[in-house]
Amino acid sequence: MTTREHDLREIRDAVARLCAGFPGEYWRELDRARSYPTEFVRALTQAGYLSCMIPEEYGGTGLGLTAACAILEEIQKSGANGAGCHAQIYIMGTLLRNGSDAQKRKYLPGIARGELRLQAFGVTEPTAGTDTTSIRTTATRDGNRYIINGQKVWTSRAEHSDLMLLLARTTAREEVKKKTEGLSVFLLDMREALGKGLTIRPIRTMINHSTTEVFFDNLAVPAENLVGDEGKGFRYILDGMNAERILIGAECVGDARWFIAKAGAYANERRVFDRPIGQNQGVQFPIARAYMATEAAALMVDRAAHLYEHGQPCGKEANMAKQLASEASWQAADMCLQTHGGYGFAEEYDVERKFRETRLYRIAPISTNLVLSYIAEHVLGLPRSY
Ligand SMILES: Cc1cc2nc3c(=O)[nH]c(=O)nc-3n(C[C@H](O)[C@H](O)[C@H](O)COP(=O)(O)OP(=O)(O)OC[C@H]3O[C@@H](n4cnc5c(N)ncnc54)[C@H](O)[C@@H]3O)c2cc1C
Repeated sequence: MTTREHDLREIRDAVARLCAGFPGEYWRELDRARSYPTEFVRALTQAGYLSCMIPEEYGGTGLGLTAACAILEEIQKSGANGAGCHAQIYIMGTLLRNGSDAQKRKYLPGIARGELRLQAFGVTEPTAGTDTTSIRTTATRDGNRYIINGQKVWTSRAEHSDLMLLLARTTAREEVKKKTEGLSVFLLDMREALGKGLTIRPIRTMINHSTTEVFFDNLAVPAENLVGDEGKGFRYILDGMNAERILIGAECVGDARWFIAKAGAYANERRVFDRPIGQNQGVQFPIARAYMATEAAALMVDRAAHLYEHGQPCGKEANMAKQLASEASWQAADMCLQTHGGYGFAEEYDVERKFRETRLYRIAPISTNLVLSYIAEHVLGLPRSY
């Protein structure tokens, strides 16, 4: 075992110990009430896991993306749900790579100490959907501030975050040569904005995800909160999206491993026709298939994380990692429910909850079709379809 592998093993073990304090009952209760996992997020914050991407000079642990993947995978593998706080890890990439020194000095130490939460990522809009460059939220320069108007949808954790990374159009689409130009990223301080042009409305969903709609009505944001250069925000967001896809891939691998362990245990223990159901190959084979798909996906997640961490291009690998892992976790979820027969539907087994939760990742943060289309066009050279 290399030192790096040894360190990652230690991180995994420590995360697993922390998660053991938050068993299925805890998540079931929150799920029923659609409540935010405040105590769980506090415990992760205090242990320093949510600051793993923040360099040590700003008070973080500086562990990097591979360690972040290990942390999130382990959370999901324990049966917990990291969706209440995972965004803090991947949103950070945009600020770290494109933010100014002043912004980093102002915000990163507070985030590392757990006093500031950077949990909200405002990209998706009701009319634009996946077509990000057609967003309609505008930011208009007015002296030393920008005035924001528009609406976002599916802005998860907005009610549990102090800061939001926001994408808005600073130059109209008709006035730019390429539609990817004229978009800008802002670090929005929601504590100052609430009630002064920012409104948040929760959306009740099939899973407990604290997601919301967000409305901007002449909201003034200081110009110093622009991240990087005006008009180049799409590129910054894409870079952050690669980190997001890799980390979501790691979460899916964790989910898949939870489903496989849960199904294996049940298949060994449940007796029907005077033998364990797992003795039937019809029950064994789907578990073996899910296991192989998961191990293959895990390799791609590792490869993508390695490239990202070494500053190399990783768009292809990040997309494939997210796709393969979300397909593997869904395959494992379906297999686990089937293995449990009717009991898979009972809340107390946690299978139905995890089944619903992992399904999200075939749609968000990017849906399956859009990854396939990216690979077809950008990797295989097939004609552009949209
Ligand atoms: C619970 C939840 C949490 C989320 N959290 C966030 C968040 O924190 N921040 C944020 O910004 N967004 C968030 N999202 C939004 C998420 O990223 C989008 O839902 C996702 O990108 C898909 O966009 P859409 O829902 O508008 O689907 P659409 O773009 O309307 O697509 C609908 C369907 O059509 C397919 N489709 C569309 N165009 C094509 C095409 N050209 N070729 C083939 N198929 C196509 C898609 O694959 C999809 O299956 C969240 C979503 C959910 C459900």
